[in-house]
Amino acid sequence: MPLSLESPLDELRSLPARVASSLRREGVVTLRQVLDWLPFRHEDRTYNAQPLLSASPFPSCHQLLVLRVEQRRFGGRGGMVCAHCEVIASGAMSARLTLRWFGVPYIKKILVEGQTLFAFGKIKEQRGQWVMDHPEFEIADSTDAEPGLHTGRITPIYRLRSGINQKQLRTAIWHALEVLQPEWVPDRLPKPRADGEFAGCSRFACLRELHFPADASKLSQARRYLALEEFTLLQLRVLNQRQQRLEQGGIAHRDWSLADALLKALPFTLTQAQQRCLEEIRADMQRPCPMSRLLHGDVGSGKTVLAFLAMAAAVARGHQAVLMAPTQILAEQHYAKARLWLEPLGIPLRLRTGSRSEQHGADLLAAAPTSKAIGEMVIGTHALLHDLGALDRLGLVVIDEQHKFGVAQRARLIRAEQSPDVLVMTATPIPRTLTLTLYGELDVSTIDQRPAQRGGITTRIRTPKCLEQAAEFVLTQLREGRQAYLVFPLIEESEKSSMGAATKGHKQWQKLLPGIQVGLLHGRMSGEQKEKVMREFHRGEIQALVSTTVIEVGVDVPNASIMIIHDADRFGLAALHQLRGRIGRGTHQSYCILLTGDEDPEAQEKLRIMEQTHDGFVISEEDLRRRGPGDVLGQAQSGSAPLRFGDFLADTRLISLARTLAQRILSRDPKLEEPRWEDLRQVLLQAPAQGASAMQ
Ligand code: ADP
Ligand code: MG
Repeated sequence: MPLSLESPLDELRSLPARVASSLRREGVVTLRQVLDWLPFRHEDRTYNAQPLLSASPFPSCHQLLVLRVEQRRFGGRGGMVCAHCEVIASGAMSARLTLRWFGVPYIKKILVEGQTLFAFGKIKEQRGQWVMDHPEFEIADSTDAEPGLHTGRITPIYRLRSGINQKQLRTAIWHALEVLQPEWVPDRLPKPRADGEFAGCSRFACLRELHFPADASKLSQARRYLALEEFTLLQLRVLNQRQQRLEQGGIAHRDWSLADALLKALPFTLTQAQQRCLEEIRADMQRPCPMSRLLHGDVGSGKTVLAFLAMAAAVARGHQAVLMAPTQILAEQHYAKARLWLEPLGIPLRLRTGSRSEQHGADLLAAAPTSKAIGEMVIGTHALLHDLGALDRLGLVVIDEQHKFGVAQRARLIRAEQSPDVLVMTATPIPRTLTLTLYGELDVSTIDQRPAQRGGITTRIRTPKCLEQAAEFVLTQLREGRQAYLVFPLIEESEKSSMGAATKGHKQWQKLLPGIQVGLLHGRMSGEQKEKVMREFHRGEIQALVSTTVIEVGVDVPNASIMIIHDADRFGLAALHQLRGRIGRGTHQSYCILLTGDEDPEAQEKLRIMEQTHDGFVISEEDLRRRGPGDVLGQAQSGSAPLRFGDFLADTRLISLARTLAQRILSRDPKLEEPRWEDLRQVLLQAPAQGASAMQ
C-alpha cells in the first residue's frame, strides 16, 4: 500500500514505535491527524553563533561540546547532574558553559564526554561561571551546525494533551512531513499573484513552514496564508447560506399601513439614517424571501422605533411579531414603549418574561384591544423560548442586543419551517471586518447618526481625590432636576465582591449626596427588585442610581445626564462606551466623569480615547486593536468552533481579501464543479463548524 494521509503512523518506518504508540493512546493514529496538531506558538531557538555569553532573562540556543559530566549527590533527592561544556563558535576563543539538572539523575546516562549538543535555556552567572539550568537540549550527530528538530531553529511548541511530550510529537510531525506529498494537500485558494504578499505560497508549503519554519518571515507568511484560507472558507460558507436563504420562500409583508400610522403618531421624525435603514428593512420584508438583517447603530441612535415599525408591518395581516430582549429590564422598557405607541393602533400586545410576569403579561393581554385581522406582538426575554407552541404564525423575529444571546437560542426562535423575517439589533459597534466574518450571512443596516436636539456629552478623566468635588457637581445637576448614574466595576474575583463594591459605594454616595434619594442596582438582586428600582429611577423617585454594569445594556432614561464611573480603568473601551451611552439621551448637556487612580500610561491612553471621541466605531476599532479579537468578540463567537487563525481577525486587509476571493470563486463557479475545487467542495460539505481543520 502506498502511503497516504490516512496511513497509520506505524507505517512511517523512521518513526520510533514508542512515539507512534504514545500518539495512538491519544487517539492520533493517522498522518492526517498528527499533521493537524498545529503548533500554538514557536520559540526562537536559532543557534546563536556568538561565542560571548552573557546573563540574560531571555533564553538562547548554543552549540556545545561536552567536556565532562559529573553527578553530585546531596539531600538524597537524585542530586545534581552537571555537564561542563565548551561553547562551539566558529574561530573565536570559546567560553565555558555548565548545564545543570537537579533531581533527574538519569540525565547522566544520556550525556557522554565528547558529544555535541544544542542547548536552549537562560544563561546566568554563578560564582564566576556561566550556567544554564534544565535546558532544552538535543544531541547533535556531528559537530557541524546542522539545525536539529528541537533546538537550533525556530521550534514549534504544541499544546499538549496528557501522555505525550513536545519532543515526541515534534518528532512524529517531522517524520510525517518528510513523506508528505504535495498532491495530498491540494490548494484551496486560487494561485497567489507572483508579485503579491503570498507569492509562491501553496497549502503544502505553508503547512510545512507552519510546523518547521525556515525563518521568521516564512513563518509569518505561512500563518497569514493559512488564515486567509480559513477566512475564505468561512466566507464561502456564509455566501452559500445567504444564497440558500434567498432561494427559500418567505413571507412578503406588503401591508405597511399600520407602520405608516405609527410613523405619523410618533412624537418625532426619523433621522435620515433611520429613514435609510427603514427603507432597507422595508424592501427586505416586502420581498418573498426571509429577511436576515443586522441593524447596527450606536447607543441611542434609535433602533427600537425601527423595530416597532417593522413589527407593525409584520402583524398587519395576521402574523405574529416577536421582540426578544436580553434582560427583564429591557423587555419591560420595550413593553412600556409598545403600550404607548402601538396599543393605540389596536395591536394586541403580550409580555413574556420570567414566570412571575407571565401572569402580569396575561392580564395585560386581556386588557389589550384585540382585532381579528391584526396579529399579536410579543415582547419578552428568553423566557419566550418556553412558549414556542404559541408562536405558530411567526412573521418577524426581532432580537435586541443580539450579542447577548447564544447562537442556539436564536436558532430556536427562528425555526426554518416558518421562515420568518429576522432583524437582529446591536449597539455594540462592530468593525466591518468582523460583521463580514461573524455575521456574514446577514445584510447590514447601520444607523450612523444620532437624533438631533440631543445635548452633547462631555467626558473627563479625574483621580479619586476629586470625588468630593465631583459629588458637588452631581448635586448641582440633581438640584436642576437631572438624574445621575454612579457606576462601580465588576471586580474579577467574584460577583459577590462587585456587589460589595456597589453596596459600599451606595453608603458612600448616600453620605456624599445628603437629601437625595440614592438607589442601588446590582446583578445579585432578583428580577423583581431590579425592575422596581428601575421603575423608580424612570419616574424620578430615585435621583441617583448606584449600579454595577447591569445598566450597561439598552437602559433608556433621557433625564439622566450625569455618570460617574469608579475605577474606570478596569473597564474595556467597549464597556465604557456602552455605559456612557446611558446618558446624553435627552436634550440636556450630559457629563461623564471617569475616575481612576491608575497612572499606567496604557490605561490613561485608553481613557483619553473616551475623552476624545463618541464615535462607537472608532472606539470599537481601537478596542479591537488593543485587545485582539478574542476578547472583543466575547460571546459573539460562542456557539461556533473557534477559528484557528482567529488572531488575524483584526486584520482588515486579510478579511477583505478573503471576501473578495470567495466572491470571485463563486462568481466563476457557483457550485464549485471545476476539478481544482474538488478538495474545497469536500471541506465545505463536511464541516459545518467555523474552524476548519488545517488538514481536513
Ligand atoms: P438604541 O438605538 O440605543 O436602542 P433607542 O431606540 O432606545 O436607542 O432610542 C433612544 C431614545 O431616542 C429613545 O427615547 C427614543 O424614543 C428616542 N428616539 C428615537 N429616534 C428618535 C428621533 N428620530 N428623534 C428623537 N428621538 C428619537
Ligand atoms: Mg436599544
